[in-house]
Amino acid sequence: MWDVLIKSVFIPEKGTFDIGIKDGKIASIGVNLQEEARYIIKGEGKIALPSFANMHTHISMSLLRGIGSDLPLNDWLQKVIWVLEGEFVSYEFVRDGALLGIAESIMSGTTLLMDMYFFEEAVAEVATLAGVRVGLGFGILDFPTKVANTPDEYLKRAEQFIRTFKGQDLVFPVLCPHATYTCSPSTLMKVKELAERENVLIHTHVAETKWEVESVKEKYGKPPVKHLDSLGFLSERVLMAHMVWLDEEEKAIVKERNAKVLHCPESNLKLASGIAPIWEYVKMGIHVCLGTDGPASNDNLDMLEELSTMAKLQKGYSLSAKAIDAKTALKIATLNGFSACGIKAGKLEEGYEADLILIDPDKPHLQPLYDPLVQIVYCAKSSDIDTVICKGRVLMEKRELKTIDADEVRYVARKWKDKITDFMKKRNMLYF
Ligand SMILES: [Zn+2]
Repeated sequence: MWDVLIKSVFIPEKGTFDIGIKDGKIASIGVNLQEEARYIIKGEGKIALPSFANMHTHISMSLLRGIGSDLPLNDWLQKVIWVLEGEFVSYEFVRDGALLGIAESIMSGTTLLMDMYFFEEAVAEVATLAGVRVGLGFGILDFPTKVANTPDEYLKRAEQFIRTFKGQDLVFPVLCPHATYTCSPSTLMKVKELAERENVLIHTHVAETKWEVESVKEKYGKPPVKHLDSLGFLSERVLMAHMVWLDEEEKAIVKERNAKVLHCPESNLKLASGIAPIWEYVKMGIHVCLGTDGPASNDNLDMLEELSTMAKLQKGYSLSAKAIDAKTALKIATLNGFSACGIKAGKLEEGYEADLILIDPDKPHLQPLYDPLVQIVYCAKSSDIDTVICKGRVLMEKRELKTIDADEVRYVARKWKDKITDFMKKRNMLYF
């Protein structure tokens, strides 16, 4: 007996099959599978794909979405985001932001999020109830925040966090040193030691802006990737977000060390940071994953939009239509993210984790449908995603959320909008 049986669904490059799911895994893909199942989904006319892995975000920033748009990066951070975070970030803020962001993520087909923020225990609470996978760590910095005051205090808290969440079903702890310009070499090396001792991933920001590269060069005599490599920090467990400004030697170092790149094209565009040459990284065999970054700098968590933007942007940037093709774009947004976390998902094959989405192509913008895979990358919208399954559990069907109360999501968004708007009015800092 199946836990979930999807009847007669079209799988690109395979054909029309039934998918039998048991114990969280794709147990069988075949024709006319036995009908006994706890839950049956009619797949006729739908297209099945692996779900998305959003490999770099700060999900609770969804409560700050749309504030301070069109400001330059430094003004946006210093005059808006850090002021509001200083006033509002709390367990409740992070939990409510995670609820809003995870609802949006499920509705746009994502079942794995790599998150870095404060009070990550609150994200774990929401993700566990909602049934999505999350890699979690709070930002480690050299200066005080609401998490801790000194690097050693951050590390102590990080160790406790790892002990609490290691071995859980959907939540896995990671270490998040914020960046090379906010963490000293000594902090970075303590993070590396702890990551090796506890066998967890490291998630950090690297080479996002020209300003960052210049200031790291000034301080340490080397650009960020060379600086990290000279410390002995880089390895296959290091996931580096952005990676926009690398010289040729740095690209070779990333490949050599087998570190992973987390590409966030829409955030890099919106904050005017630049365009990462992902097509070159892919050609060199560097492991590239895709992320949205925080929803206050994107301004959404829509991975389908992100992967379409990535593919088109790389073509325009490289002047080659083959720079990133549709199939590669999908692989970067799915399989590459899961495999970077050691999760056997991101392919619709027997034995893989049952993390998948069903898309309804019966819409004018998807017809006539000649090549489903290509047309999903270039024509589909996340609102075409009908069903989302994570580890065999149905999180959305017919666009109805099954594990999250949509009314509660609306309520928390309104509640925080009122609080934050009041504060900004009083401080005379309205940026919308
Ligand atoms: Zn980020």
